[in-house]
Amino acid sequence: MDVTPILENLNDAQREAVTAPAEPTLVIAGAGSGKTRVLVHRAAWLIDVEHVSPQSLLAVTFTNKAAAEMRGRIESLLGLPVQHLWIGTFHGLAHRLLRRHWREAKLPQSFQIIDADDQQRIIKRLLRSMEIDDGRYTPREIQYFVNKQKDEGLRPRHLDDDGDPERRQMITVYAAYEEVCERGGLVDFAELLLRAHELWRDNAELLAHYRQRFGHILVDEFQDTNAIQYAWLRLLAGNSGVPFAVGDDDQSIYRWRGARVEHILKFQRDFPGARVVKLEQNYRSTGTILNAANAVIAHNSARMGKNLWTEGSAGEPIRIYAAYNERDEAEFIVGRLRDWSDQGNARQDAAILYRSNAQSRVLEEALINARIPYRVYGGLRFFERQEIKDALAYLRLTLNRDDDASFERIVNRPTRGIGARTVEEMRSYARANACSLWRAAGALASDVLAGRAAKAVLAFMTLIERLERETRELALEDKVDHVIAMSGLVEFYKKEKGEKGATRIENLEELVSAAKSFEPDPAAEMQPLDEFLAHAALEAGEGQADAWDDCVQLMTMHSAKGLEFPLVFLAGMEDGLFPHQRSAADPDGLEEERRLCYVGITRAMRTLYISYAEQRRLHGTDSFSLPSRFIREIPAEYVEEIRPKVRVSRSGQRPGRASPVPDAAAESGLSLGQRVHHRKFGDGIVLNCEGHGPHARVEVNFETAGTKWLVLAYANLDLM
Ligand code: ATP
Ligand code: MG
Repeated sequence: MDVTPILENLNDAQREAVTAPAEPTLVIAGAGSGKTRVLVHRAAWLIDVEHVSPQSLLAVTFTNKAAAEMRGRIESLLGLPVQHLWIGTFHGLAHRLLRRHWREAKLPQSFQIIDADDQQRIIKRLLRSMEIDDGRYTPREIQYFVNKQKDEGLRPRHLDDDGDPERRQMITVYAAYEEVCERGGLVDFAELLLRAHELWRDNAELLAHYRQRFGHILVDEFQDTNAIQYAWLRLLAGNSGVPFAVGDDDQSIYRWRGARVEHILKFQRDFPGARVVKLEQNYRSTGTILNAANAVIAHNSARMGKNLWTEGSAGEPIRIYAAYNERDEAEFIVGRLRDWSDQGNARQDAAILYRSNAQSRVLEEALINARIPYRVYGGLRFFERQEIKDALAYLRLTLNRDDDASFERIVNRPTRGIGARTVEEMRSYARANACSLWRAAGALASDVLAGRAAKAVLAFMTLIERLERETRELALEDKVDHVIAMSGLVEFYKKEKGEKGATRIENLEELVSAAKSFEPDPAAEMQPLDEFLAHAALEAGEGQADAWDDCVQLMTMHSAKGLEFPLVFLAGMEDGLFPHQRSAADPDGLEEERRLCYVGITRAMRTLYISYAEQRRLHGTDSFSLPSRFIREIPAEYVEEIRPKVRVSRSGQRPGRASPVPDAAAESGLSLGQRVHHRKFGDGIVLNCEGHGPHARVEVNFETAGTKWLVLAYANLDLM
């Protein structure tokens, strides 16, 4: 067989997958084994060798960034640009469909996407207007409930309260929330998916058209699809489509968002006879890193199980640093980054990964002090900043007056004398008349409101009408520029003192540049402003604009999925933080955290540092923690401990330590399985001991009180 360049640099198993006949195919393989590479080559193979039209391919990736990269790689393999190739995230693709078929989807043409923050505000407002005590249900809980139902494909009418009054209440709020969105033409993230599914489910002709069109469906990170995404794929594939999915059960990390790794098994049931290809060679990491990752994930019981190996060298040991506190940890990382640059390496090849966004602040401060350029993914979300959302709200209102979320956001920003009372009146009018706030404002201003308030409201409405008129014919960036200039936001933020105000104004200017450099996707067939606003909403979760070269990358382990870096730091590896306290107690939760750890470790190609702090201030409180149990799960042969700088010994604080996981049992005279008595909890058995000195803790299974972790120094346990 002629080997086209498309098949070069693929191993046999990868080649089998890339050239598989047009039948359902599932590639299940561990991290760094070339799954994404296979997907890219498959697309190029289909177009170049099988002469499949790019129009017939639909490729689903996990982020917009990954989508852009995939398109670039396909084009470079083919040596030509490919248009009309649909590549995107589930949300992005669903959105595109809804724009094309807004009528069939029963949406207004100018529908707008709302993000999680808008969604929460709407729910908060609803709870207030429905006079539901939000001490009982936090808006966040309701939001979670609503999204969960949507992710499962369930509308309020499908839900049964099972005689449970609390559930009934939740369902009522869900229904009311749907009404608000319906009225305002607002679509949240989960709704995008649900609507897109209903669009095909309920329009046989449309479905037939897309089934005909998309003969080949390529899906990356398949293990993290949720129920509605899977249903959507299943619907599209029908009985003749060719789904080609790649994934890794060990990297399923979005269960909390409804992802179901079980879809891997379901795929094999739904497409009987599906070809299953396993890839076992890892090309990303050194032997040491790979073995460490394999050892950690082996502690999970719910696994399909696989064997990953590498031809590469063992490489450097994994270095573990026990920091005194979070600042010491940040200093340590900064020091290693300096060495990295001094050795002539590129900064963007280094990534600092952490469990939760809040951890980035201290790291950022240290990087700023050291003048090391960095970039945060996800943490500082450009499109989610207050001033940016304000400007976007003006733009959105020019497109759609019934967008209540935007209306409320800017009706009195900049301050124009429309007080909380007036807004409250509008809300109740809107509620009573089932109309949008814009309509309510119009009705109230013309007869009910007092002179001054009425004047202010009318001035606001006139401003919006005028902005719409004046910008109708303008190019996208001029539109954005004009709307910002006329909105009064710049003057408003100028009044904000110091750095903050200045930064906000810079950001508003940055929004104009973002509009300028925005490249509409020709396959999207949308108005540029619609597309730009959708991009702003969909991109929000992914971070800043892309033009940041030579920066160290900071991100959560969740956002690092699919990426790779020569140098990786896993920071904050402490019990309670990672595994997260919320998950540690529940076995499924713990296994998901461990998968996340596996994802973190396997991002590293050459060098991996793991650090933890004995004392950490997070969210304003100090806590003392033990090293993460995941550190202990890495066999000692792969690890090298870095001794901290010698420092002044404090009471109870040892300057260095012998092992990253000291054993409390030896110090205290306790042993595992020992029976003990506690004054309050009664009799129990020691299950586990961790830490040393004042940090030593024991886990005791009490006969009546259940399992508890206790600080040894305070527990006053009697040995029995
Ligand atoms: P993850 O599970 O993290 O998403 P993956 O399975 O998608 O990983 P890729 O990102 O596709 O893996 O590949 C990992 C690295 O190995 C990439 O740098 C890729 O270019 C390289 N690679 C994959 N296959 C080969 C091969 N046959 N020859 C050389 N390099 C390869
Ligand atoms: Mg991948």
